[in-house]
Amino acid sequence: MAKKIKARLFVEVPLAAGTALWLGESQAHQLIHTLRSREGDAVSVFNGTDGEWLAHATLIKKKQVQLSVESMRAPQKNAPDIWLVFAPVKNEKIDFMVKRAVELGVSALLPVITRHTIVSRVNMERLYANAIEAAEQCGRMDVPALHEPQTLDRVLGAWSASRMLIHADESGRGLPIHRALATQVRGPAAVLIGPEGGFAGEERRMIALLSATIPVSLGPRILRAETAALAALAHAQAWLGDGDELPCHAAFIAASLPIEGDPATRAG
Ligand code: SAM
Repeated sequence: MAKKIKARLFVEVPLAAGTALWLGESQAHQLIHTLRSREGDAVSVFNGTDGEWLAHATLIKKKQVQLSVESMRAPQKNAPDIWLVFAPVKNEKIDFMVKRAVELGVSALLPVITRHTIVSRVNMERLYANAIEAAEQCGRMDVPALHEPQTLDRVLGAWSASRMLIHADESGRGLPIHRALATQVRGPAAVLIGPEGGFAGEERRMIALLSATIPVSLGPRILRAETAALAALAHAQAWLGDGDELPCHAAFIAASLPIEGDPATRAG
């Protein structure tokens, strides 16, 4: 019987049968101290380009873990081309927004500085660590691209007409999101979410001038930015992305590769 997978880990090295790799400090710490792994334990590794691979711990020292990559568990599959363009919000709220957006399958995260954005600096390292953690947990095989913060007018000035800009507009200018997206053809898209103070008038006008803009309403209530991002992304994936696909572990269950702790395979 295949050994249970102790963890899914994102690694930033090429993956192929026979690759030997040393884990980074935090991942080694997670395996040694949190998961009490031992030599011989199985883990699943992915790097965003070479698919997902079964690997075993070949050497566990005080603070280091070496893995040996064995066989491919699944061919590479990337998330649909849907971005989240968002005015950064404060600390734990931006952590929440980024992690949930990764789980909801965004392919890129673009923080934009708008008139009413109250956050002056974005901790990109922290966002990247959050994005990796969420990708490892939810079973996706890639980590979204993370862009440095830019001003809204700079982002709009460089916007490609081939990418739908789904503007969550609390002014009520747009159709309900499900009706607005039901008539769209699948393709590159982005969800645009404003700051806690909302978009300024001239920003709304700038956004509306883009031919790619689709203003949408998320219902009668005013949502927090992080709630609005999730609501809009869920609709975007359902209508334009991979919302109609099976959960990724279904493939592993079918291949009877049990995942430790996954309720679906507990019976397995
Ligand atoms: N200051 C705004 C107000 O009081 O009207 C609220 C801004 S809201 C906290 C942050 C962002 O979430 C908005 O800029 C918009 O992008 C999105 N949002 C919130 N509720 C929405 C809704 N019902 N429809 C569309 N977008 C919404």
